[in-house]
Amino acid sequence: MSADADPSLAALLAFDRDHLWHPYSSALTPTTPYLVESARGVRLTLRAPDGQRREVIDAMSSWWCAVHGYAVPELDEAARGQLERMSHVMFGGLTHEPAIQLGRQLLELAPEGLQHVFFADSGSVSVEVAMKMALQMHIARGRPRQRFFTIRGGYHGDTFSPMSVTDPDGGMHHLFRGLLPEHVFAPRPPAGIDADLSAWKAATASLYAVHAAEIAAVIVEPVLQGAGGMHIYHPEAVTFLGELARAHGALVIHDEIATGLWRTGRPWASQWCQPSAAPDILCVGKALTGGYLSLAATLCSAEVAQGVSAGEAGGLMHGPTFMANPLACAIASASLTLLRSRDTAAQVSRLEGGLRLGLQSAAYLPSVADVRVLGGVGVIELTEPVRVHEVTAAALEAGVWVRPFRNLVYTMPPYVSEPDEVAQICSALVGAVRSAHP
Ligand SMILES: *Cc1c(COP(=O)(O)O)cnc(C)c1O
Repeated sequence: MSADADPSLAALLAFDRDHLWHPYSSALTPTTPYLVESARGVRLTLRAPDGQRREVIDAMSSWWCAVHGYAVPELDEAARGQLERMSHVMFGGLTHEPAIQLGRQLLELAPEGLQHVFFADSGSVSVEVAMKMALQMHIARGRPRQRFFTIRGGYHGDTFSPMSVTDPDGGMHHLFRGLLPEHVFAPRPPAGIDADLSAWKAATASLYAVHAAEIAAVIVEPVLQGAGGMHIYHPEAVTFLGELARAHGALVIHDEIATGLWRTGRPWASQWCQPSAAPDILCVGKALTGGYLSLAATLCSAEVAQGVSAGEAGGLMHGPTFMANPLACAIASASLTLLRSRDTAAQVSRLEGGLRLGLQSAAYLPSVADVRVLGGVGVIELTEPVRVHEVTAAALEAGVWVRPFRNLVYTMPPYVSEPDEVAQICSALVGAVRSAHP
């Protein structure tokens, strides 16, 4: 069926093009998106601009969220059950079982020492809250500190505080000069889970020493920087940053919005550290509801919670309208139950094996700079910017939805992907790179 024969599709896409913002998009040169009709298992049903209906594997898990795939019976059931009771009530002065149950599950799973949960409505907001906790903690101690220490190449969200600790180039800090607080950026740790860190440690420690008295917290994505470049680095760098912070009275914030909930093979990426490097404050989001609804959380230690609350403000000064939305909490709770009842670590480890096997041949292509895999994350890094349109179209031809950025063609498949589906993702990605970047 062509779009001519289906005026409704053409009209939908025309309205979209003329009026809807898509992420990081231009209203002057809008690109035509693919319309998704439905999704089931690991597959999306797309209507292409020409009207063709096509089932494709979602190699992106909808920006890393849909870890169980789509139309998951257990999550649908949780949503239906909660809808019958209530979709939403305010969290000021009220509480409900879905939030209590989810809070319990999160603290059971969380790295040691975390005792308090603040529910936020998106990842960026959970980072805002984490940074606010750190600032309020130092204010309450009577020694305000106003800067954060991080590493280059990170991504922490698009609202202003998270953007201020996102990589200065990737976060386009020059656009907002004067409006963004200027935090302290150490070099990015060298690539590779077993890289030699000695030069990086020396540079980072001396930079830290210059600013030590003003640093409220170190904030970092442990072991894998996601949207900042799919950069895998040594867990010891995470430990080192934590030690620097603690040695100078600063807090440690782990942004595990991308890496948490087994994406790197363990419940939290910080668990690759030896000994395991628990943070004072932890952000979790993305996969939290299995991709059903927007929900995130900021967890913190009893010391942080008590410190913040002892201050003049008398509490943590944050409270989103949709805080702890019951529907989202009920689904998240069912999702965590699923993750814990299945052997998720083994599932992700099989995924990792499939990605390694399937992507290795890309390393021999002339336009490929690097191929790397960690847990359920497979990355092909090119020597040049990705021709996004060509790569996406070629992958769709091979039955796979992929959304590359910068010089990276990558996949984060749903954990439930079968071996043949992982193989199809890999061959589609490698084939798309081969044809679009000969
Ligand atoms: C996606 C992401 C965020 C922002 O989450 P949103 O839900 O998009 O606001 C923050 N930090 C990391 C590491 C992320 O991957």
